[in-house]
Amino acid sequence: MRRWKCKVCGYIHEADEAPEKCPVCNADKIHFVEVDDKGDEIALISEIVVEVPVQEVKPKTFRDRLAALVLKLHLHPIAVHFPNGVLPVAVIFVALAILLGLATFKEAAFYNMVFVLLTMPLVMVTGYVEWQKRYKGAKTALFMTKIFCSLAVLICLLILVVWRLVDPTVADAGSVNRMIYLGISLAMLAAAGIAGHLGGKLVFGSRG
Ligand SMILES: [Zn+2]
Repeated sequence: MRRWKCKVCGYIHEADEAPEKCPVCNADKIHFVEVDDKGDEIALISEIVVEVPVQEVKPKTFRDRLAALVLKLHLHPIAVHFPNGVLPVAVIFVALAILLGLATFKEAAFYNMVFVLLTMPLVMVTGYVEWQKRYKGAKTALFMTKIFCSLAVLICLLILVVWRLVDPTVADAGSVNRMIYLGISLAMLAAAGIAGHLGGKLVFGSRG
């Protein structure tokens, strides 16, 4: 079986022919190169080399320049460290507060969630810019799932923070709604995990 690599996202396709469109980033067939088992490009001397014209996009407006900076500095992979790092901690604290009745963890969980909520606009805006610019807004299953999961994280987070503000005892060991509160926390963690896993597939795709 021959191996083809998408030069845009690093996706590896195993078939006799390269696919018409990359299933991950929607790039055209012309962006695929044949690679060997180690992932190195196989130079085809016999085939006519087609020069793909590189579109030099000159940053014009302030918005364009800002978007270019987001890509250049890899701001999205950096920004996602906040929810990916802090959310599991917050959810563990919620579980400790509810299941073991440790009241101090309830406070810690709340402040962690507020912190993640404050970072979410940066995470979502940089993610959107990266999707639009680097992957041309490709509506593949991978990107749709990522967008759905990040919206789910945001909604769960808003519910958890607002609920806690309205009812400060919701995450107490004796609270009636404590298991619903824990359930939303776990759902939020799962959604963040899926979004992070798919993001890792994009960033490290060229290694697989
Ligand atoms: Zn691709």
